[in-house]
Amino acid sequence: MRKALVIGGGVAGPVAAVALREVGIEAVVYEAHSGPGDGLGSFLTLAPNGLAALEVLGLLEPVRAVAADSTCRIELVNASGRRLGLVGDGSEKGPDRLRTVTVRRDALQRALAEAARDHGARIEYGKRFTGYTETPAGVVAEFADGTTAEGDVLIGADGIRSRVRGLMDPGAPRAEYTGLLNIGGHTPPVEVAPTPDATMRMVFGRRAFFGYQAVPGEEVLWFVNVAHEEMTRERIAARSDDEWKRFTLDLFSGDLSDITTILAAADPACFRPLGIDDVPSLPRWHRGRAVLLGDAAHAVSSSSGQGASLAAEDALVLAKCLRDVDGLPEALGGYESLRRDRVERIAAEGRKQGSRKGGSPNPVALAVRDLVLRVVFAIAGRSGGRGWMHDYRVDLREPLEVDGIGT
Ligand SMILES: Cc1cc2nc3c(=O)[nH]c(=O)nc-3n(C[C@H](O)[C@H](O)[C@H](O)COP(=O)(O)OP(=O)(O)OC[C@H]3O[C@@H](n4cnc5c(N)ncnc54)[C@H](O)[C@@H]3O)c2cc1C
Repeated sequence: MRKALVIGGGVAGPVAAVALREVGIEAVVYEAHSGPGDGLGSFLTLAPNGLAALEVLGLLEPVRAVAADSTCRIELVNASGRRLGLVGDGSEKGPDRLRTVTVRRDALQRALAEAARDHGARIEYGKRFTGYTETPAGVVAEFADGTTAEGDVLIGADGIRSRVRGLMDPGAPRAEYTGLLNIGGHTPPVEVAPTPDATMRMVFGRRAFFGYQAVPGEEVLWFVNVAHEEMTRERIAARSDDEWKRFTLDLFSGDLSDITTILAAADPACFRPLGIDDVPSLPRWHRGRAVLLGDAAHAVSSSSGQGASLAAEDALVLAKCLRDVDGLPEALGGYESLRRDRVERIAAEGRKQGSRKGGSPNPVALAVRDLVLRVVFAIAGRSGGRGWMHDYRVDLREPLEVDGIGT
């Protein structure tokens, strides 16, 4: 194995390129956009398991340098701001450098791309992958600009609507809408009550769900989830930015007034919604010389806060398998079998979290919901957070125990 063609320069692609170089495989990343920074959503959280995976590859410091505040606790409040629970995610008990952080997506992508280049990986922008063919000697990827590239393995890190996946397995299930729309943005510093230290406040509103972190003097990162029928791109495009802003403000009319303050001060361009989709389980993650990574293999709902962290874990495990397992099909099969159970469990958890975010026009139903949530969060608070998600570690130096992993 000498050369990998990595399709997609979001999160999984650049991390995979670095991981592959660490195990002696040349990697070139091909990204459709003209530069880093485009993508889904405005910001994301990186959990201890993802940060630990980045650390193994020397990518932790560049990412932490562009991250906003630590977000290792969640304060849950009802529509009028009354606390329903304060839940640590467990990372506050670990080392500071691995505490969950929030980072703007554009800053994350730029930092990863730059760090990947520093590690000797090549990233080519403006390269929209369109197809591939396998030859006895390797794989040839084709791009919309008419160029091709040759390598030994094709890695589809091209996200939730992966073209590599569609070609590799035309019958594969497509992304499914989870029933929630997401709107996310950032607002210049505004006068609102600050959130407690290292804590994101999540508001179970009457009609929708709002999450934000307000640190005095800093921009406020926020997101909205609202239960809604599925919207096509055309229907979303049919409304103006200002109309989407009005729609979002109306969702929180009568709820905690800080929400309105934050939303009113945000650029209308932030308010175009995006359907939250997931791909909970695929029949196969690899075929021949092609393999899927990150959201292309297993998009988990954003409610899990794990998609980017899982992508970083994938990259390490794939590199390790390619280094330690003889034969390409066996190595790709080993990667899939080491990863599948974990990511599918997290996908299921993400769906469960998302299902609690809906509002109701009925005040009695809302009161009952708040009561139930109090109990749920009290139990969650006692159960030690999300240790099973966060404690996962991959040691790249340690050779893989090859026995027991199959194709
Ligand atoms: C609203 C929202 C909020 C989220 N919040 C969180 C969070 O808090 N924490 C978390 O961990 N995760 C979160 N996620 C999930 C997270 O964004 C993804 O899991 C993560 O980005 C996956 O990385 P990826 O590299 O696999 O895919 P992506 O980041 O989607 O990158 C795929 C890349 O492939 C490129 N590409 C696509 N097709 C082609 C092609 N044909 N040719 C070349 N390039 C192509 C795309 O342009 C893109 O750059 C959230 C997602 C959404 C939508």
